[in-house]
Amino acid sequence: MPARILDGAATARAIRAELVPRIAALGARGARPGLGVLLVGDDPASAVYVRSKTRAADELGIHHETVRLPATVTTAEVATAVEAYNARPDIHGILVQLPLPPQVDAARVLRLLDPAKDVDGFHPENVGLLVQKRPRFVACTPAGIMELLAREGVALAGRRAVVLGRSDIVGKPMALLLMHADATVTIAHTKTRDLPAVTREADLLVAAAGRAGLVRGEHVKPGAVVIDVGMNRVQDAALARELLDPERLPEFEKKGYALVGDVHAREVRERAGALTPVPGGVGPLTIALLMKNTVTAAER
Ligand code: NAP
Repeated sequence: MPARILDGAATARAIRAELVPRIAALGARGARPGLGVLLVGDDPASAVYVRSKTRAADELGIHHETVRLPATVTTAEVATAVEAYNARPDIHGILVQLPLPPQVDAARVLRLLDPAKDVDGFHPENVGLLVQKRPRFVACTPAGIMELLAREGVALAGRRAVVLGRSDIVGKPMALLLMHADATVTIAHTKTRDLPAVTREADLLVAAAGRAGLVRGEHVKPGAVVIDVGMNRVQDAALARELLDPERLPEFEKKGYALVGDVHAREVRERAGALTPVPGGVGPLTIALLMKNTVTAAER
């Protein structure tokens, strides 16, 4: 039986709908949540992500503004922009769209964020609070995945979870959240030996490696829940034909590229119990959680 499709987009809509009365209650007190975005350089993917986030803010009536800085900017200039948002009482959440250009000290920039406005959960203080299981703001992608798992009734206590990837923004916080939910967690990465044998142990597999179609049927235990975090731009026609469902090929022909996940969906669907699609899975959840964190910041 093919895997059940976990509809991240529908869950994201539900999360956003729950924010409507909270935003109205803030409005009744004369407050409107405000999100300050910092977009540095001209990475097209970053521009697309920022557009999706500001569109979601518009739909909810969350105020937003974007400071754009050139790719040649210095760390000091980025720091000045962050500090200006820190000082603004009408800006409750700050989003520094990553990646920053190589000459900018990203760790220093994130450290300068007011932790109470760090709606992406990247400031070391917020990371530390997560480690101690006292979360304030948690990175939006793993936090969104936890909401999806809870709302889909996926049991975690005592189950084996494998997180493929150990980045600060996805893999590490994901592993911590799953551990705090009483799963037994393994983190896999490029030095992991015999990856398919490791991932096949998983009742829950979270793929966040950034490699198109890396997770094949042989990586998946029959019946496992598979969460595909990957968002990979595929331009190679042969790879697109290998990975895409036939109904998405016209979209590829038209645009010259397609977004695919880390999971080889056609193979994995035949083995997994449940699977998030790409697009329409984790991406919309990430945006919904950013909105939720911004509303929470305004309430505080
Ligand atoms: P990242 O910083 O590049 O980290 C990738 C991780 O995967 C690294 O830890 C790396 O291991 C591991 N990895 C890479 N190739 C591997 C392989 N062949 N075998 C085993 N492990 C491998 O990426 P990221 O920022 O975490 O993002 C991961 C993916 O999620 C990307 O496709 C990104 O676009 C997507 N993403 C999606 C959303 C969303 O909202 N849907 C949000 C964020 C990210 P090492 O540490 O050993 O190098």
